[in-house]
This record gives sequence, structure tokens and C-alpha cells, in this order.
Amino acid sequence: RAGLEPKPKAEKMFALMDRFLSNDPVSLQKDILDHVEYTVARSRFSFDDFEAYQALAHSVRDRLIERWHDTQQYFKRKDPKRLYFLSLEFLMGRSLSNSVINLGIRDQCADALSQLGFEYEVLAEQEGDAALGNGGLARLSACQMDSLATLDYPAWGYGLRYQYGLFRQVILDGFQHEQPDYWLNFGNPWEIERVHVSYPVKFYGTVEEETLNGKSCQVWLPGETVEAVAYDNPIPGYGTRNTINLRLWAAKPDGQYDMESYNTGDYINAVVNRQRAETISSVLYPDDRSHQGKELRLKQHYFFVSASLQDIIRRFKDGHNNFDDFPEKIALQLNDTHPSLAVVEVMRVLVDEEHLGWDQAWNIVCKIFSFTTHTVLPEALEKIPVDLLGSLLPRHLQIIYDINFNFMEELKKRIGLDFNRLSQMSIVEEGAVKSIRMANLSIVCSHTVNGVSRMHSELLKTRVFKDFYELWPHKFQYKTNGVTQRRWIVVSNPSLCALISKWLGTEAWIRDIDLLIGLQEFAADADLHQEWKMVRKVNKMRLAEYIEAMSGVKVSLDAMFDVQIKRIHEYKRQLLNILSIIHRYDCIKNMEKTQRRKVVPRVCIVGGKAAPGYEVAKKIIKLCHAVAEKINNDADVGDLLKLIFVPDYNVSVAELVIPGADLSQHISTAGHEASGTGCMKFLMNGCLLLATADGSTVEIIEEIGEENMFLFGAKVHEVPALREKSSDDKAPLQFSRVVRMVRDGHFGFKDYFKSLCDGVEGDSDFYLLGSDFASYLEAQAAADKAFVDQEKWTQMSILSTAGSGRFSSDRTVEDYAETTWGIEPCTCPS
Ligand code: PLP
Repeated sequence: RAGLEPKPKAEKMFALMDRFLSNDPVSLQKDILDHVEYTVARSRFSFDDFEAYQALAHSVRDRLIERWHDTQQYFKRKDPKRLYFLSLEFLMGRSLSNSVINLGIRDQCADALSQLGFEYEVLAEQEGDAALGNGGLARLSACQMDSLATLDYPAWGYGLRYQYGLFRQVILDGFQHEQPDYWLNFGNPWEIERVHVSYPVKFYGTVEEETLNGKSCQVWLPGETVEAVAYDNPIPGYGTRNTINLRLWAAKPDGQYDMESYNTGDYINAVVNRQRAETISSVLYPDDRSHQGKELRLKQHYFFVSASLQDIIRRFKDGHNNFDDFPEKIALQLNDTHPSLAVVEVMRVLVDEEHLGWDQAWNIVCKIFSFTTHTVLPEALEKIPVDLLGSLLPRHLQIIYDINFNFMEELKKRIGLDFNRLSQMSIVEEGAVKSIRMANLSIVCSHTVNGVSRMHSELLKTRVFKDFYELWPHKFQYKTNGVTQRRWIVVSNPSLCALISKWLGTEAWIRDIDLLIGLQEFAADADLHQEWKMVRKVNKMRLAEYIEAMSGVKVSLDAMFDVQIKRIHEYKRQLLNILSIIHRYDCIKNMEKTQRRKVVPRVCIVGGKAAPGYEVAKKIIKLCHAVAEKINNDADVGDLLKLIFVPDYNVSVAELVIPGADLSQHISTAGHEASGTGCMKFLMNGCLLLATADGSTVEIIEEIGEENMFLFGAKVHEVPALREKSSDDKAPLQFSRVVRMVRDGHFGFKDYFKSLCDGVEGDSDFYLLGSDFASYLEAQAAADKAFVDQEKWTQMSILSTAGSGRFSSDRTVEDYAETTWGIEPCTCPS
């Protein structure tokens, strides 16, 4: 199997098993029926769609496991330098559709099922989303895992197996309500529980000084132990046998703990303790930006870090006995600051458990970590109160102080006694609540600090981490985010995928995205236009059916489908969008009937979750519903304008909505979106962008040209001066008029919306809705004008897809591999 030599003793076993599962429809049918009977335990003469999905999922999983085994054994034999991608969040979405595409068995599965009387698409819909993350950062982790597998990199992902994923958004009377997402309710065929792969994770306790071999050392005597159990999720690459691993940890009680309670006859406490342990991995924190530095969250971080590092170090020690080889074999990627306790944990393990000297350990730490930050806002940088850290992880706090002491000493030599700068760069923040600055810790301990777009990196260098950049310019790089074309074109837009392959004469673009540029040559071809429009129409029909089923509103396919889907946040400016929809509505109402014929019909689609404690975001959702209620029921308006809120935005909803969009909006106040990845998915699918020059859109402009999108708004360097400007000069009259409509109760809930209106008028308009309003309306008008000329629009759409190659996560990951992680592909033989 896959170039692996059987050991003599295992020859008999190999003889019995030396076959791979076949992928022809008849073999698949047999496997599906076997799983119906033996795994799902239903009669093969009577099973429903969900049971058929389960049986299909298990049949696909078997094939994944074969490849997973071969890949892992091959990596073990070759022993390349490996990347460990540490992230507290992975927004994987559904696995079936992605797996069958990457394994190249989509059509065979569909054939096998149709002969059994089932439809592949219907079964694929049975799967719920794995939503172990909040938004862009988490989906980025998922896209990067797909690229790492496809490009044959020897990589592992590590994360937490939350029992409850991101909350489900339910809308009642226009208000968001959160419901728990118990995604494991019906089992999860995509994971493999590894009951034997478990590690103790310790918390609390005290640190005592002891003497070992004549040297004094610190010994942590923990107060609580919890067990971390591994769940493996195979991640198949496309067009390769390589299948990598995403290992997620679940918390289980430590057996010893229970025994003590049983011995004292305290049964109830034993049960409570079990639950307490399990709580650690039970809930994903639903706040997207601001960080609740609560104890449970810190516990989650350390639980994750400790288990992952025990696993990584065990694997390293399996073939190596010299820790100086660690940096040759291991790269550790910190996805934001959430896993950054890992740097402290490696120091602790090397010094306290492996008994390396501090300098030797520090030397190793400085070579293995790279850190990617995802925020632009200094206030969103994570801080942990010293009291909390000291009580939960007393030894770690000591180590942080030691790292900081050494850093401060080095810094004083470099910059002298500039106390202001020293205190700003210190890992420890003094003040009313003394805290540890996790970003500073990550920068000090990492060899590379990456931003997620060029603009983001500039802001890091000139604002957020200016002092650090001046100290260590060589550490600062950027890797513009990317998304995987496998999920975002091949899986979610199969008709566009077939069309692209037909016109390029190859499917090679699915692995080599740069080939997409070949579409430019046909951008004016009338035949391609015809087919392109047809594909777009089919996707719009699919979306329109969903909208009608979900909201009861029938929308016209001739209208422009204008979409803004992303987390609801003030800086993302959904409110700007809604206010301009009110403006459009107001204009239509005030027009003569004859004039209305000239209006370009629009279906405005908004979707996204608000963090449960984020009041302003929740009000924006309510306003959207209130405005929709008015517009959608106004006979004067009819098909000229509809407003739809798509509830419970997640990966699967994105897969449906993105291919059906004509126009998509990425309208954050310049300087606030670190990258944005939603825009890349729309771009790949031939949707035109209406955007500000923020985050990665700046680079999109370079690829497709300003003339192929609708740009507006203040540039990043203009923002500070605009904020200073007196409020009266900023907002145009139209803006004041629409805000007044909301204030006056035109859409009801006058008192409830008052604070929203207050927040965008006068000097409180921090996100500059008023000052960008006029140019926003101009960009909207330009989009209307372009839409009327369908040939022009189609050409812009083709050029958008053609120019999207730079935004594949394959490019991002290759760049990381070469310039940050220092890893090379390791291709498992087929
Ligand atoms: N949430 C989901 C489900 C997504 O697919 C994406 C897209 O990348 C995001 C959030 C982030 O979107 P944006 O970059 O537009 O904020």
C-alpha cells in the first residue's frame, strides 16, 4: 500500500487487506448498503434520506481513512519538517460535498445513489454544518487546511471539539434569538474518536522550589487535572492521495479525580466534577472581536495548547532525542493570539520537564513559532488579567515574567531608558487591572509576525505594532488571505465549474488557480456570454427558491441580487447599506409612475449573526427586518425593491447565496477590515463588488482593475481627518433625511432605534456613514447603470472570476510554506 513495505509479521494481514476500496458505482452501492445494515443498523429495504446520508458518509469516510493511514505512515517514514496549525476556531461547514469532490468520486456516488432510488443532492443537504468558529478567521483555517492537504504539505491542524458550535440564529418578530447548536446530536461520521490518544491537562495549584541534581528548579504542583481526548478529522487533498489530520480535543474528567469522590461516598460530587471537566470544551465563545477574558475561556486556551503540545512533543520524541533538532522538524503557527500560551508552555516543558537550560529552551522557542494577527483594532488585542492567569496557571505566569524581564533588559540596551516605549512594549500592562498582553507575548516569542493583507500589514507596522516594527523590521511580513476554489467554486457552483473547465479546456485550474486568467481571452466572446448568463440565471433561480421557501417573498429573477452577508458589526456598516435601501425606497415612493419604469429592480439580501451581547448589532438586524416589512408589503414598490434577511448565516448558506449574487457589498470604513475573505468568494463566482478600499479589496482592485468594480468612500489616510471634521460638513442632506425617517418612527420601534440614529449623527459617527453616504450612493447608481448593459456586466463578471487567482488559499499557503514555515511538500505515493 502506497509505497509502504509490509513487516514480515504483518504479511498475512497485508495479504488479507491488500486492496483499496473501489470507487465504481457498484462497489459504492455495496458499501452504502453494508453501512445501512451494519453501521446505521437499518434494514437495507427500508431506510430514509438521513439514514442513506449516514451510510454514504461512512462509505466516504472509509475511503478517507485509507488515505489518511497511508499519508500519516508516509510522513512518519519520511520524517519531513511538519507544520502544526494551532487555531481555536475552524468553520468547516459540511464534509460530504467537499470530500467527494476532493476524492474525485462525486459522479460515482451520484450514480450509485440514483440506482438505489436516492438523489445525491438531497442527501448532501441532510448534513448539518460543523460551525466551530465565528467568522472569517475560522473559515480561513478551514480553507488553509484544504490547501495544505491539496499541496501535499506535511501539516496537522489542532483545535477544540466544542460540543456546542456557534449559536443558531433564529429571528422572531425581527429580533435575533440565539439557540444552542448541538451539532453532535445525530452523531458525526467525519470524526474518529481516539480514546487511547489522551493527555492529562493540569490547572491551578502552586509552584514550589526544589533542588534537582544540585540545581534549584521550580516545580508546579497542580490542583486539578482534566483529560484531553483526541478526535481526528481527515482532510483530503484534491487530486492527490494526501489526506491530512485535523485533531480536535474534547475534555473528559480525569479518572483519578472520580475515584477519590467515590471512595468518600460522594457520588453527586463525582458527577458534578465530571460535568465541570467536560465544560471546558463544551461551548465556542460567540464573541467575534472583543474578548471576554473570563476564566473558562482561558481554561479552553490552555487545555487546547497543553494537549496539542503533549501530542506534538510525543511525536517528535518518537524519532528524535535531541531537542536542538526541534526547529528542523517543527513549525508552530499561532492563528491569532488565542493559542499563544503555547510559547509559554513550550518553555515550561523544555525547562521544567525536559530540564534544558533557559537559554537553550529560549533559543528553540524563538525558532519555531510564527504568529498571524487578524485585527486592526488595538482595543481588540487580547489581554489576560494577571490575577486570573496566576491562579489558573501559576508557573506560566512566572515564565511570562521571566521572558518579559529578559526582553525588557534587551530592549533597554537597544533603546535606552525610554520608559514610555518600554511600558508600551512590555508584555505586562500595569494599571488598575494588571494584565498580560498576549499580542506582545506572541511577537516577542515568534520569528515572524504576519498580517493578513498588505494594507493590514502596513497598519501593523505604522500604527498597531509600530514600536515592535522599528525594533524588529525583519519579523514583519504579510500573507494576503485566500479561499479554496474547491469549496467555493467546485462544490458550491458546479455549473460555473463545468463552464470554466470547458472554456479553459482543462480542469487543471482546480489545483492551479493561476490558469483562471485564461478566461480573460474570452471575456468578450458572445458564446461565452450566453453560457455565463445561463449559469448565473440557474444559480439565481436556486437562490430565489430558497428565499421564497424561507421568507415567503417571491423575487424577480430580472432584478439585481445585491448581497451583504457577513458578521454584523458597526465597522462592516450594514447600517449604511440599510440606510441607502431606505433612500432607494424613498426615491421610488416619490417618483412619478412613468419614472419608475427606469428604476433598476433590486433584491437586497442581508445576512449575518450578531454576537449575543452586542446590542448595536442586534438593533441593526431589527432595523433590517422593520424596513423589509415596510418595503416588501408596499404595492407602489412591487418588484422594484425587495429586502430579505437571510437567517442563520453559515458556510452552507454562503455556498447557496454567493453563486446567486450579482453584486456583493464589502463596505467597511477604510482601515478597519484586516482582510476580508467573503469578497474573494464572490469574486471567484463572478459577482461584481461594491466596496471601499479596505483590507484585501485594495489588492482585488490591482488584479481586476477599478473599472470592473464599484469603489467608493474615504481612503484609509483620509479617515483621521474626516473624524476631526465638524459634523455639519460631513453628511449630505439625503443622509439626514433617511436617518430622520428612522427617528420619526417610519418603520416603527422609534424608541428602540433612537440610539442607532444617535450613533451615526453628529460627532458620534465614528464609522463615517454620513461622510461616505454621497459617494456610496454614486457607486450604487454606477452599479445600476452597469446592470442595464447586460453584455458589459457579463464581461465584468468574467473578468472578476479571471482575476481571482491571487485570492486562492493555495497561494497563501505556498507563501507561508516558503517564507514563514520552511516546509516542503511530501507527496504520498498513489
Ligand atoms: N462567515 C462565513 C460563514 C463565511 O463563509 C465567511 C467568508 O469568508 C465569513 C464569515 C467572513 O466574511 P467577510 O470576510 O465578508 O467578513
